[in-house]
Amino acid sequence: MSAVLANNPLDDALTQLRDAVDVLNYDEGTYELLGTPRREITVSIPLRRDNGQVEMLRGYRVQHSYSRGPAKGGLRFSDQVSLDEVRALAMWMTWKCALMDLPYGGAKGGVGFDPSLYSPAERERVTRRYTSEISPLIGPECDIPAPDVGTDELTMAWMMDTYSTARGHTVPGVVTGKPIVLGGSLGRASATSRGVVHVALAALAERGFVPSKTTAAVQGFGKVGRGAAVFLAEAGVRVTGVSDRFGGVYNPDGLDVPALARHVDRTGSVVGFEGSEAIDRDDLLTLPVDLLVPAAMESVITAANVDDIQATIIVEGANGPTTTAADRMLRDRDVLVVPDILANAGGVIVSYFEWAQANQTYRWPLHQVEQRLEERMLTAWEAVSTSAAKTGRTLRQTAMITAVQRVAEAHAIRGLYP
Ligand code: GLU
Repeated sequence: MSAVLANNPLDDALTQLRDAVDVLNYDEGTYELLGTPRREITVSIPLRRDNGQVEMLRGYRVQHSYSRGPAKGGLRFSDQVSLDEVRALAMWMTWKCALMDLPYGGAKGGVGFDPSLYSPAERERVTRRYTSEISPLIGPECDIPAPDVGTDELTMAWMMDTYSTARGHTVPGVVTGKPIVLGGSLGRASATSRGVVHVALAALAERGFVPSKTTAAVQGFGKVGRGAAVFLAEAGVRVTGVSDRFGGVYNPDGLDVPALARHVDRTGSVVGFEGSEAIDRDDLLTLPVDLLVPAAMESVITAANVDDIQATIIVEGANGPTTTAADRMLRDRDVLVVPDILANAGGVIVSYFEWAQANQTYRWPLHQVEQRLEERMLTAWEAVSTSAAKTGRTLRQTAMITAVQRVAEAHAIRGLYP
């Protein structure tokens, strides 16, 4: 069922942790503690297909940490899902929440199947059975799932309904990224993309780029990439290349992004968009642009293609798009890499707002959500970029050191039980 990744993202996540622990001078026991998930569960999901046959799927939920609060993180449906991938993604959630100073630990879930090959009714059965299997571990006070690759607000509605039905009352705080009508936050759907563009514009300014004279390429045209392309174009950036799983499109004069979005709504892909040249999906990464936004999957910028990357600023919309080897080579070339735990934190920030609204049973207006999102993104950007400039460390090293220190401190103050 599952496709295997050539690169294990858990190796990258652990190397990033090792680097931070070395700078912080923590002992080996602390590294082990911070690198090991608190809890993980593997569940079997017997799925009755629409044709009556039964297929066994495998699901996971990994709670990496809850030292700073309930575990928090998305649910991914992809044929690439493995336990190690979910472990890496859960760990990155811990650092992301700590860096953004959200009162959460980190978690991630996944089911190993390609949802595009299954009917909506089949996806609903997978979601409900998965939720039921992991339901002893989740809840507004212990672990709060949200959308990720291959899942959406409807998936969250099914999760909330399944969880709530078992409890006999509606529990809106058990998931975030819900439809608005079920208590989803205004501004949640666009939050990750908005956050990516807030920091992308700040990074451009730091390197002396003016948006109207800047070109960008965006990998992925889903929940993150699509909005990122739209908001970059609105800010005046010339978006010249975009790709999805089916292929890529390129126009050196700039793509008409709203028209491209309409084309995708009609056809399901960026491929075939008129007024653009077709490119190979992997060539998107090596286009002659100033800014590159990988907003699809992990481990796409590797030692094999990093030398061909021409962008001088990379803003990681995806989680873990850059392997450790590639990251080191980019640092040597002085390419500014805005790391995932900073760049794509807008989603979990507004998830936090949604959870706070559920707990308050009070809806915030859109302008308040967006203003608070921008404030949090830019405050984190300022802190990380100022500290990086002082120490000469990369943005990733700086962000990781801040996050790991916060988690380690919370853990130390709480102490070991027993
Ligand atoms: N899946 C998103 C992420 O990787 C959002 C997680 C959340 O909102 O809990 O950050």
